[in-house]
Amino acid sequence: MTSFDVVVAGLGAMGSAAAFELARRGASVLGLDRFAPPHASGSSHGRARIIREAYFEDPLYVPLVRRAYERWAELERLAGRTLLVPTGGLMLGPPDGVVVAGALRSAREHGLPHELLDAREVHHRVPGLRVTSDMVGVWEPRAGFLVPEAVIAAHLALAADHGAELRVEEPVRTWDAAGDGVVVTTARGTYRARRLVLAAGAWMSSLLGAASPPLVVERMVQHWFRPARDTGLYAPSRFPIFLCEYAPGRTWYGFPDVGDGVKVALHHQGEPADADTLRRTVAPAEIAYVHALLRTFLPDADGAHAESAVCMYTNTPDEHFVVDRHPAWPQVIVASACSGHGFKFSSAIGEILADMALGERPTFDLAPFRISRFAHGVVAHEGTRHRRSDA
Ligand SMILES: Cc1cc2nc3c(=O)[nH]c(=O)nc-3n(C[C@H](O)[C@H](O)[C@H](O)COP(=O)(O)OP(=O)(O)OC[C@H]3O[C@@H](n4cnc5c(N)ncnc54)[C@H](O)[C@@H]3O)c2cc1C
Repeated sequence: MTSFDVVVAGLGAMGSAAAFELARRGASVLGLDRFAPPHASGSSHGRARIIREAYFEDPLYVPLVRRAYERWAELERLAGRTLLVPTGGLMLGPPDGVVVAGALRSAREHGLPHELLDAREVHHRVPGLRVTSDMVGVWEPRAGFLVPEAVIAAHLALAADHGAELRVEEPVRTWDAAGDGVVVTTARGTYRARRLVLAAGAWMSSLLGAASPPLVVERMVQHWFRPARDTGLYAPSRFPIFLCEYAPGRTWYGFPDVGDGVKVALHHQGEPADADTLRRTVAPAEIAYVHALLRTFLPDADGAHAESAVCMYTNTPDEHFVVDRHPAWPQVIVASACSGHGFKFSSAIGEILADMALGERPTFDLAPFRISRFAHGVVAHEGTRHRRSDA
């Protein structure tokens, strides 16, 4: 049986970052994935992921995203290519809404550069965008977007350069605690390791069995539209990333046109799903709904529908991440950093996962991300065998 310091199960956003960080610190690493990342079957495809600093969800994420920015700059240097496109960002909505009030809170608590703009000033700053007169915008200069497929490819290439063994189309079937290590089984082999990092995204519950926190997979659709006229209004130099709370509890977001159309999507208005049986077709009504938002807010971008792609959020009940040790087996580390907003942090989370796997103390307070906060929703662990029936 081959032995490694660490097996990483899942090589998407979190797992690829962890594999790179572990390998460059000198650990022997085996990375396993169900598909061949970067792929379009999980949570990390669609050519753009927002990164922003005035974090409306909670100020606790600001130090983490600041670290992530440092790591993205380093990754770009190591990979020799652009992975993060700075555009600035607008958090839009009513002044007392979740998005604007939350972004202002984070900006003020952490002394982040920002400006509060009224609807007229928003249009003046970004002529491609029109918001209703009851809305305001929080402008943050450091926001932009990451190219997720390129990020994952870069992390994996660098992990391999540092000696990581990466096996694709080889899903983990079972893992067993063995002494203070683990034994991991796939259809092709059995591997022993001192530590196991579980980063299986929308498949996480199946690898955790009864010990899983209450995770709900949500079907989400990303859309691309060709601007109606070639005005240049939606070029990355003139159009920032935005999030807009257009009705109470309803948010959509978008990106500039980098040649494939303006990308837009709804946030958290998808349907519960199962990763193995996800509905990947997109109904005309879903496209029509987004057309209506474009007509109101980005009228010059409301051209032909170019493409849609279905993706998955993996949500916790409080929409904060899970980054913790397994409740029964501390040699197993669990990273479910999604709830629709995890990608931007993946460079920093990879570093945290490597710290945890190698017995170093992470520099971030991980208390908000503990599994035990859902104690009532977690069934006590009864054994060491976690079998997937279909892998
Ligand atoms: C439409 C959409 C838009 C988003 N927008 C943003 C955004 O703008 N900004 C942002 O920060 N975040 C955003 N997110 C969230 C972000 O993309 C996710 O938090 C992040 O990609 C999750 O990474 P992950 O590593 O957990 O999952 P993934 O990247 O999906 O990786 C999980 C991997 O595990 C593998 N796997 C599964 N089962 C097994 C197994 N048994 N054995 C081995 N491997 C296995 C899968 O094949 C996959 O490669 C968005 C998500 C979606 C879906």
